[in-house]
Order: sequence, then structure tokens, then C-alpha cells
Amino acid sequence: MTNIDLTGKKALVTGGSQGIGAGICRALAACGADVFINYNTNKEKAEKLAEEIRNEYGINTSIGKANVADSTEVKNMFIAMDTNIGNIDILINNAGTESVRHVLDLDEAEWDRVLNINLKGPLLCSQQAGRRMEKNGKGVIINISSIHDTVPRKGLIHYCSAKAGLKMFSKCLSLELAESNIRVVSVAPGAITTEMNQEEIAKFGVEKFEKWIPQGKIGQVSDIAQSVAFLASDMASYIHGTDLYIDGGYMNNTIQYDPRPPRKSK
Ligand code: NAP
Repeated sequence: MTNIDLTGKKALVTGGSQGIGAGICRALAACGADVFINYNTNKEKAEKLAEEIRNEYGINTSIGKANVADSTEVKNMFIAMDTNIGNIDILINNAGTESVRHVLDLDEAEWDRVLNINLKGPLLCSQQAGRRMEKNGKGVIINISSIHDTVPRKGLIHYCSAKAGLKMFSKCLSLELAESNIRVVSVAPGAITTEMNQEEIAKFGVEKFEKWIPQGKIGQVSDIAQSVAFLASDMASYIHGTDLYIDGGYMNNTIQYDPRPPRKSK
């Protein structure tokens, strides 16, 4: 068995400034890849992360601002990647956002914002990356979805719809890009401790999540990042067009109010 080796590969991670994206940047760099870290608002965090992983892993890294929902900014970001890092081998469409709204209170602007970042962003970035990868004759695109691409949830109609769209987007993309030797995989995290869900975890309390999740624990960024590094590597060369749910079994336990039958004896 060999270790995951991404030496010489060049990766772009959207939303790499914090949370799962930052963890993915670290994991890819630890496996030897050069990393372009995309941020939207958080330049300082992106700069700090770049410096940290450059010092720790001695790889080439660079940062670039782009709102993934803006085609001009995305185009310019890929040009910056060409210049500062080189030909892209790995794209991780990780940037995402959510908000909690009852469907009857959800205004058009918020629907558009959530759909544009979570779904249109991966399209714009995959087009830029796909054209380059087609020329190189190889590549890997990994889309970070959510268990909510399958599991509906009150208050998240816009987010669930975007992630369900992203799941199908990944499948269609995998059909179209296979002939160019570009692999596409979707990764669907469950509840992972990051800035995005801090408030939600605090609202319900960690204990509730521990009861809901069959493994009895909330996931960590590294749980997602390590799997993404594996999926980006040649070790996963036959994994294509599928979804990997990484959730401690959460998805299989969506009827959260069911009491667990106590064990009579062990
Ligand atoms: P997070 O901590 O809130 O980080 C979100 C990242 O996305 C930030 O780096 C942010 O960049 C970036 N971003 C937001 N809008 C952007 C835009 N318009 N253009 C470019 N970047 C943008 O979130 P996270 O928990 O790490 O989530 C990462 C991904 O995992 C998301 O796709 C999310 O839906 C998915 N996910 C997370 C969980 C979870 O439990 N945490 C579960 C399932 C799925 P700036 O800070 O620079 O603006």
C-alpha cells in the first residue's frame, strides 16, 4: 500500500480561506500538490494559510480573489493560476453558503445568491478548469455537495435545491468529461465543525448531534479533507461520476425523533 502522492499536481480550491476548503488545501499540500487558494472576502485568512502551508510543506502556493458566481472574476482567477502556479490538474469546487429561511419568507435575491454561489459557481469554475484539463489530456474535478443534496430540511429549501442540483451537475459533468480523461466526483459532508454551522451546533447543542449521528460525533474538517486528497489521487482512478457521503452515518438516521431502543444486554 502506498501513501497518497500528489507531487507535481496543481490544485485550485474555491473557498479555501477557511473551514473545509482550508482543510482541503492543507491535505493536498501535505500530499505534495501546489495549491491555489481562492477567497472571496477573507484575504487575510487566505494569506495566512498560504504562508503556513508554504512553510510547512515547501510547496508552491498562491492566493486569488474571486466571487465564484461572477464569470469575469472566475476567468481572471484562472489566468492568475496559470501565471502563478501553472496548468491545473485538480479543481475542488468547495465554496458554498447557506442561510435559514422559511420558504414563505425567502426573497428572490436570497434564492439567487444561494443558488449562484453553490451551483452556478461550480459551473463557471468547471468550464474554466475543464477547457484547460482537456488540453492537458487529464484532470480531476471534485464538487463539495452536502447530505442535503438528498435529505430535505425545513428552512433550507434554497440550499437543498442548490446541492441537489450540484449532485446532478456532477453526474452530467462526469458523462461529458470522461472522454477527455477528466474524472468528476461529488463529496457530500454531513455535520462538520466549521464557521458555517457554528451557530446551528450551538443552537441545538453538541449532545443533540451526538444522538442524531450514528457514530455519535460531529465530523472534523480533516474527515473530509483526507478523503478529498485520496479522491484527487491516482489511487481513485476508477471512481467517477459518483457521490461519496462522509457523515458518520447521519444520512441514514434522518428520522431524528425516533427513540433508540435500548440494548437489553451486551
Ligand atoms: P465556511 O466555513 O462558511 O466557509 C465557506 C467558504 O466559502 C469561505 O472560504 C468563503 O470565502 C467561501 N465563499 C463563500 N462565498 C463565496 C463566493 N461567492 N466566492 C468564493 N468563495 C466563497 O463553510 P464550510 O463549512 O467550510 O463549507 C464548505 C463547503 O462544504 C460548502 O460548499 C458547504 O456547503 C459544504 N458543506 C459543509 C458542511 C458543514 O457541516 N460545515 C456540511 C455539508 C456541506 P471568504 O470567507 O473568503 O468569503
